[in-house]
Amino acid sequence: MQTELIEIDRRNMPVHLIERAGMILRSGGLVAFPTETVYGLGADALNEEAAQKIYAAKGRPSDNPLIVHIADMEAVGQIVKMVPEEARALAEAFWPGPLTMIFHKRECVPMGTTGGLSTVAVRLPSDEIARELIRQSGGYIAAPSANVSGRPSPTTAQHVYEDMNGRIPMILDGGPVPIGIESTIVDLTEDHPVILRPGYITLSMIQTVVDRVEVDRGLSAEDSVIRPKAPGMKYRHYAPKAELQIVEGPVERVVSYINKQCSGAGKTGIICTEETKTCYSHGDVKCIGSRKDEASIASHLFAILREFDEDGVERIYSESFETPGLGQAIMNRLLKAAGHRKIDVTQ
Ligand code: AMP
Ligand code: MG
Repeated sequence: MQTELIEIDRRNMPVHLIERAGMILRSGGLVAFPTETVYGLGADALNEEAAQKIYAAKGRPSDNPLIVHIADMEAVGQIVKMVPEEARALAEAFWPGPLTMIFHKRECVPMGTTGGLSTVAVRLPSDEIARELIRQSGGYIAAPSANVSGRPSPTTAQHVYEDMNGRIPMILDGGPVPIGIESTIVDLTEDHPVILRPGYITLSMIQTVVDRVEVDRGLSAEDSVIRPKAPGMKYRHYAPKAELQIVEGPVERVVSYINKQCSGAGKTGIICTEETKTCYSHGDVKCIGSRKDEASIASHLFAILREFDEDGVERIYSESFETPGLGQAIMNRLLKAAGHRKIDVTQ
């Protein structure tokens, strides 16, 4: 299959091109498109056969449900049984934006979209290309990240092309995405909201809107029997080809440990920050952003993991980015990429 890569000028939205993409979706095909979080691989969410094509193109396990993207608040009522008060408050605060909410689904949403679950994940993105495409396609696009399963999520159209060339008919190129990390997922089907995946919308931001919110215990359980509630969170995603290790502790000790590991060893990569980039004497050193600006760290993470694949490094060492805010989402993705390999060099 020939994959068309179409550049979209955001200042002068070419509606006829988005209409063409919408036609592909309406006729059961796949289109990759930008959102503010990462690029998505879309299909008509209400067409079971179309949604199934996403699993085939990505090599995604069939029990890992898809997020349904909508373009306006009214659309949610058509596909879910009930929108609880807290969901309305969260939508008011964070939609359009990087928040996904889980509801009990209506009949019209096929099990092929929800990985066999009776609940459905819904998000109203803020990206204007995404929203125009949703409108043109009939209102409901099922879309996971547009990477081959197990690869880092795509933050540019070029990343999507690397993974999806020959597998899908069209990619809309809206330039690099602004956020670069997937949406926060909140489950609204329990007594109170539960965060199933940390993302750009942090716990404290959610706490300003709802009285009570919990974090899924399965998220922090590295090898316990507690499973994460979002099926996708149990898989080892985002894995670079090289073995990745996270190094935690006071900054001087982290730098000294990494320098020691990299001296004389094979081809190694280092993920560091603006604050430390001049401290490393060996290896392929990549600066992920500044500790004073967590959003910059989040937005570069996946692209850096892909770059290391291209550079052919054998091992990667990364500084740790744990903080109560966006650091939760960054570390969740980084730990997965590292297969939970982390060393504490405090002692
Ligand atoms: P992706 O779009 O690739 O980031 O994957 C979607 C994420 O949403 C995966 O981690 C899924 O497990 C999660 N998800 C989607 N639908 C549901 C649902 N109904 N219940 C729980 N998690 C869900
Ligand atoms: Mg994904």
